[in-house]
Amino acid sequence: MVTSSQEVALQVVQQAIAALAIWAKPDNQLPVQKKEHPAVTRAKNVLGWKNYSKIGKLSLLFDKVKLSDQPKQYQPKAHYHRLLAIENNNQEYPDIPYPSDLESVQKEKSAFKDKIQSEVLPYIEENWDNLSWLILILEKFGSCLSFGEPDVALVDRAKTTAAVTAALVNNSDAENISLIAGDLSGIQNFIYTISSDGALKSLRARSFYLELVIQEVVQQLIGDLKLPSTNIIYAGGGNFYLIVSGESQQIKESVNKIRQTFNRWLLNTFKGKLFLAIDSIHVPIKALEDKSFANYWTQLTKDLATQKTRKFYQEIDVFLKASPSYEPCRVCHRDDLPSLKPLIRRNLDSSPACWICRTMFELGDNIFDVKALLRSKRSNIKGYVDRVHIPGYYYYFFTEWQQARNLAQNNEIVFLINDWQLEHYKTDNNLLLLLGNYGKESEVEPGRFIRAEEMAEAAKKVGAIPRVGYLRMDVDRLGRIFAEGLDKENRTLPRIAGLSRQMSYFFKVYLNSLAENRYDNFIKYYKDKTIEVLSNAKYLRERERKNLLFIYAGGDDLFVSGAWNEIVEFAFDVYQCFCAYTGNNPDITLSGGISIDDIKFPLYQAAKSSGEAENKAKANGRDSLGLFAQIFKWDEWLEIEDINFFEPEIKKYLHPENKPKLLGVLPFVKKLEAQNIGVNYSRNFVRNLLITAQIQEQALKKFEEDKESKEALGTRYYLHLPKIAYTLARLPKNVLDDNDFRTSLKSPYNAPYFRAIATWIELLNR
Ligand SMILES: [Zn+2]
Repeated sequence: MVTSSQEVALQVVQQAIAALAIWAKPDNQLPVQKKEHPAVTRAKNVLGWKNYSKIGKLSLLFDKVKLSDQPKQYQPKAHYHRLLAIENNNQEYPDIPYPSDLESVQKEKSAFKDKIQSEVLPYIEENWDNLSWLILILEKFGSCLSFGEPDVALVDRAKTTAAVTAALVNNSDAENISLIAGDLSGIQNFIYTISSDGALKSLRARSFYLELVIQEVVQQLIGDLKLPSTNIIYAGGGNFYLIVSGESQQIKESVNKIRQTFNRWLLNTFKGKLFLAIDSIHVPIKALEDKSFANYWTQLTKDLATQKTRKFYQEIDVFLKASPSYEPCRVCHRDDLPSLKPLIRRNLDSSPACWICRTMFELGDNIFDVKALLRSKRSNIKGYVDRVHIPGYYYYFFTEWQQARNLAQNNEIVFLINDWQLEHYKTDNNLLLLLGNYGKESEVEPGRFIRAEEMAEAAKKVGAIPRVGYLRMDVDRLGRIFAEGLDKENRTLPRIAGLSRQMSYFFKVYLNSLAENRYDNFIKYYKDKTIEVLSNAKYLRERERKNLLFIYAGGDDLFVSGAWNEIVEFAFDVYQCFCAYTGNNPDITLSGGISIDDIKFPLYQAAKSSGEAENKAKANGRDSLGLFAQIFKWDEWLEIEDINFFEPEIKKYLHPENKPKLLGVLPFVKKLEAQNIGVNYSRNFVRNLLITAQIQEQALKKFEEDKESKEALGTRYYLHLPKIAYTLARLPKNVLDDNDFRTSLKSPYNAPYFRAIATWIELLNR
């Protein structure tokens, strides 16, 4: 009898579910399991799944990540995953599961077991062969439990073992498996270079479309290689990693076929703006056992980078073929496509645009409430809200998941977007598709995304300057975190998969939660101090900030637009929530950049300037934010609590100055906003503070070369004193009575922050 990869993967997943069920209820009766396939036995052996492996509390894997060779300066508190299922029953998005301490996790144990007993156990039998349902159980309930080793999540152990099993199905004694990775490059070009009316939602559509391209590449590969979805270790954010068999010839052929099909199509459709790099690498089974798996992951990632430098060499004939030129599309500037038509169908005066730009524009209008996608070869399905074509398949969009399911035939896949409801997965072939997709609904055009004008208007409503903010952010040193973040003996497949899953969950799942429900995912924890990792959170105001539209969020980065004042607060929230989520590990940080622009400002330029601000933040030793044309470490923006933050040289120079009560940008802005000093006072204050900053900056120019020189330090930290005394004297009495404010602002430690403080206050009070 030939056993399929699907069946062996199912065996592994069933065993993991059995372990979960027994943990929740030791006397639980389970369906009988088939005799273990040799591939299952081998994979379990290789990946350290013992017959006595047990479920337990899960320590935070991020606690183990360390990038410097120096011993840690402090011993961080050990963090554990709280026992919470991932669910969004009564809300749009699941709550962010911040790590906690052992004691509180113990307290949650029996309630969590009860939950599994009532929500999972009664349904196991009827779904015993339904891989989609079983995997969703593991994601929902097994992301916060360990299995075998204290820092390996049940879901990661189960999925990676199932993947290796499926790769070994035809030869359980094989010496190799393979890893395939792909990367869609040029995304920045495709997304960020357009200029037009309604560009925001159109950008959103473009990034959504690219997500589908990656999903399709992955589906075709696993279809071709006859593998179950467990073999997708990661897919999203423009790249993917798959575990496949070690049969080189077959793998090479599949990879080549996909590379050619997609690159021909990308070249024809997008004129070479997008390119799919895809490659595979042999991974000796030994490397899974001896824990050098991360090396292969890293090597393959590097191979892809090389491929990107010689893109389209296989399609050189198409590339060189002279193409006629026509009137350029007003949106993307392409000139090789005939028959431009008005961008907006009902508005004949709208800009002439090519068919791709028109498609993306309409898609942007239609995806607001999309809940499910049906993937089909058929071209005649009815009742969808929109449809796109990707080589070989159509993707039909529906606002009701049931509608997509009812229309699906045979083995057609239905993707359910951010849908954690177990009962929606009772049919096999329903797959969970996670998307960082928060976007406020427009009040002007209900059923569509908020428009740039509305964002600017939202800022104006609270007295701030009407502008749109654009935030770009990504994880610092991500490649190094995967390659060498874990100790040598910990660089195993289940752990690498775990890091990758948790990282992408933050961007695809929890960023949505943070945008949609700020109070429950952030503010609350500061107020009730129940979660230690967030007990020290900082924010300007407590109010919600929902006037945001995600253009892209996934993998390890984000690009979000919104009312500028809300974007600034959102950036600070994201940073602090990310740090809390990763256990406040100083080696896992984010850098970001914000640009604040008029709604008329071309979007591609805004994207560029926020990108430049982000690059400068990276160049500032990372862990930084570029905002208001200033680059500081996040601590300088939020509040510096420990004077040791400053370099010893600077501290020595400023000695015997004490640390001021308020230190950094936010504390001052917060005080002034709370004092409500009135427009006139605030204008004066801002003007004087800006003049002070300017004098200082001009004087500092002389010392560009040697910023640490005595003269430079003197200029930077003391030049402002006479001017600041003058500035302060003109503030209203209630502010002057605030001793902390007065003395802190005069402290030389705060001198570098004047421009940022002044600019922020200025923009908030227009
Ligand atoms: Zn175009």
